[in-house]
Amino acid sequence: MNASSQNKMFDSLVEIIRKTSTELPQDVIDAIEEGKKQEAQDSRGDYAMGIIQKNIGLAKVKSQPLCQDTGSILFFIHYPKTADAEHLGELLRKAVATATEKGYLRQNSVDSITGKNNGTNVGPGSPTLHMEPWSKDYYDIRLMLKGGGCENVGAQYSLPDSRVGAGRDLAGVKKCILDAVQQAQGKGCGPGVLGVTIGGDRATGYLSSKEQLLRRMKDSNPDPVLAKLEEEVTTDANKLGIGPMGFGGKTTLLGTKVTALNRLPASFFVSISYMCWAYRRQGANVTMDGEIKDWIY
Ligand code: SF4
Repeated sequence: MNASSQNKMFDSLVEIIRKTSTELPQDVIDAIEEGKKQEAQDSRGDYAMGIIQKNIGLAKVKSQPLCQDTGSILFFIHYPKTADAEHLGELLRKAVATATEKGYLRQNSVDSITGKNNGTNVGPGSPTLHMEPWSKDYYDIRLMLKGGGCENVGAQYSLPDSRVGAGRDLAGVKKCILDAVQQAQGKGCGPGVLGVTIGGDRATGYLSSKEQLLRRMKDSNPDPVLAKLEEEVTTDANKLGIGPMGFGGKTTLLGTKVTALNRLPASFFVSISYMCWAYRRQGANVTMDGEIKDWIY
């Protein structure tokens, strides 16, 4: 990559961060609007959804962060085989520091031992880069900003689980997912979207559950069994009465996305990542010259 392409790539990365932090993708905005229509007019759920919508509009107009919590900065990238991945990693870290300096990201990453904040959002594990080469001649660069409040209510179950009465089958999986929603109540800043992975090990299960949150709100699972599970979980969760921000109401979840990984016969994990209403995920296809060709969401 020559100097001009490097500069263009850097600007594109800063723009991807800005857009992710300040503008919710349209599919999420649509889901929130549909959720608001489910709430009784002038109810507390309706009020909470109205506040959320105002917040979304203001952040976009002012190009300011949607929430005071920057969240974990998670990049998911496919890059052309011929590209220099190490250099791309350096550019990504610099872009995060610059976006923070410009105010697109609040300074929100601290040293885990000292609690000190160096003001850049860059440090060990921040940003987190998941990068894979592919045979295409452009980059697919996606970013998710995942809030701490909703991350705190993520959960992992090892089946069988006697507390929730969950055996090693799909009925047991469903009990675990609904238990996680029940435990979360309003603490995850709902209405939420769940990314769920059945199987894998503890680490791959959680990572894969976050990758499910890269799916579009209205897509349908190609596996009919999992598609049915997704529908059932969302419908049943919305009967729990938790509602937006835990204020009560019909919109506890906006959606559920489930996948499965192979597991060992000895293990059966269900890993659940909860995404809050501030569902900041964006992405762009970027040319080898560093220019944004199109937005993904
Ligand atoms: S969980 Fe989401 S909405 Fe709540 S404070 Fe964190 S980023 Fe903001």
